[in-house]
Amino acid sequence: MTFSSLTRLQLGLAALKADHLERRRLLLDGAQGAHVTIDGQRVVSFCSNDYLGLAADPALVQAAHTALDQCGVGAGAAHLISGHHRFHHDFEAAFAHFVGKPAALLFSTGYMANLGVLTALCERHSEVFADKLNHASLVDAARLSGATFTRFRHRDLAQLEGQLESSAAPKKMIVSDLVFSMDGDSAPVDALLDLAERYDAWLYLDDAHGFGVLGGGRGGMTERARASDRVIYLATLGKAAGVSGAAVATHETVIDWLLQKARPYVYTTASPPLLAACLLESLRQIEAGDARRAALRGHILQLREGLSGLERGTLMPSGTPIQPLVIGANADAVRLSKNLLQRGLLVPAIRTPTVPAGTARLRITLSAAHSVDDVAQLIAALHDLA
Ligand SMILES: *Cc1c(COP(=O)(O)O)cnc(C)c1O
Repeated sequence: MTFSSLTRLQLGLAALKADHLERRRLLLDGAQGAHVTIDGQRVVSFCSNDYLGLAADPALVQAAHTALDQCGVGAGAAHLISGHHRFHHDFEAAFAHFVGKPAALLFSTGYMANLGVLTALCERHSEVFADKLNHASLVDAARLSGATFTRFRHRDLAQLEGQLESSAAPKKMIVSDLVFSMDGDSAPVDALLDLAERYDAWLYLDDAHGFGVLGGGRGGMTERARASDRVIYLATLGKAAGVSGAAVATHETVIDWLLQKARPYVYTTASPPLLAACLLESLRQIEAGDARRAALRGHILQLREGLSGLERGTLMPSGTPIQPLVIGANADAVRLSKNLLQRGLLVPAIRTPTVPAGTARLRITLSAAHSVDDVAQLIAALHDLA
């Protein structure tokens, strides 16, 4: 007789497969980049978040080699024991300076940073107000914090204001992706800050997709957000920065508090210090990265012009490297993605539950490492398949 819990999992997996919701991993050989070998096939990749082409950049690779000889591989302990290396420390200072905030704290991943910040600053007497399209890690973080969790329609400031007005919670936090990961559009930062000020709330901005790309690389914060003590800024460092980790930048008092209370910071082994050395080099490349950002902007314009008038699919309004092409049904998006792959173009289909039902899409992401010809190939293939 089969163990019944196992049977339930088998039925669940079969149901996912029947609904075209089963996820599968592609196998990457060699380095991440615009051209990759995946499942043994050489393809042009339009799906990484390596927006500036830094993930395998020679300067970062050299920084890793150099650091490796100095500090070895493992951190060996948590930050509060003996794992906090000078490379981590120097990166935090450089990052805070770069984004224009007083202090910063380096986490191992963005997911952990979001869990850490929300659980350290919110508790059951708090209320978290979250955009409905926020990243899954922010949803999980709000739930884990025990706060009342209230969601507002995507970028709907009027609904948010109504919710803030009727809230009796003594502690409030507004939480938003700065650039939305599946839609590519941006949060109305100053308008959110107005509401945070009016209702005495924190404003937490997750700039996983803006850091390195927007604002000369400094990300999507406005000048007002930079100057505000109530803004907590998060950049993840595995996307445009090309490495790994995430940094929270804000007032020193908040950083001191997180250092004491953020459990995903306290109770985990520090990330390998060589990664922090790579991040220091990445920060230099981002700061000097105007040419990369100009190339990226060129590709965005090229794609949007090239796909205007496409018969099948609608490009969402986005000025960022995330250019979603909405197809509709899960099965149609999956089929289109497969057809593109046959032509050597890797563009993933994003399905429910990651995006709302009926809005399955191809999530096209562009990188400074693409060539004009790469983008032209994708445009031609999409017209052909439509
Ligand atoms: C990718 C992402 C994260 C998670 O960051 P990791 O460093 O990959 O864990 C958090 N928030 C948003 C909006 C993201 O896109």
